[in-house]
Amino acid sequence: MVEHLADVPPLLSLLTRSATGQAISTYFNMISHPRQQGEKDGPKQVHLVLLDNGRSQAFADEELRQTLQCIRCGACMNHCPVYTRIGGHAYGTVYPGPIGKMISPHMLGLESTKDLPTASSLCGACGEVCPVKIPIPKILLRLRKESVKAKNSSKVMKGEGASRTTLEAFIWRCWAMIHQMPHLYKAMMWMMTRGRKLIPSKLGPWTKVRTAPKPAKQTLHEILASKGKV
Ligand code: SF4
Repeated sequence: MVEHLADVPPLLSLLTRSATGQAISTYFNMISHPRQQGEKDGPKQVHLVLLDNGRSQAFADEELRQTLQCIRCGACMNHCPVYTRIGGHAYGTVYPGPIGKMISPHMLGLESTKDLPTASSLCGACGEVCPVKIPIPKILLRLRKESVKAKNSSKVMKGEGASRTTLEAFIWRCWAMIHQMPHLYKAMMWMMTRGRKLIPSKLGPWTKVRTAPKPAKQTLHEILASKGKV
């Protein structure tokens, strides 16, 4: 929504050029003010009804607010490698593509949309083509973070923590601890390389279509030390 007429031309030209290049987009409406004194036609009253539908939740957060800058050109969809392969219906929401992944969690809550922000390779094409410079990949990462944080810990978003599982949170906490303590890290790497045969070849759904990775026989430090590099 643009308040001043002077702001329309740059936005309109951005919108049409970034969309399909037509003269004007179907999403464009001009609403005039009520009839002024002495005017012969025009509406007596003008009512502008704005449906919130989760938008004030996005507006309340400085980073997520940028989602609302969208001018609906669709450039992010047309350049998205995921959207161009799976099409719009696969998203299961009214708005598909990168913009849909950002706005739908506000409209519907993260409980039913938690998978949307993960349907991205984070290649960055969407952010690059967006004419209003919405940092789309950054916002998708933020939404992923919102979906794994402790439930209702910040109340930034409806459904926050929807993807969080106790086991996964515990594994990541251990991972962080190991990476902060060099001695523990080295010990763990030694154990992983020596116990490589004990790692199961099936690691849940992930290995249904992939081969489970096997750690190397020696740690990187050991390999480099054997070559005299450390
Ligand atoms: S997010 Fe940017 S590129 Fe995507 S539809 Fe909105 S304005 Fe266009």
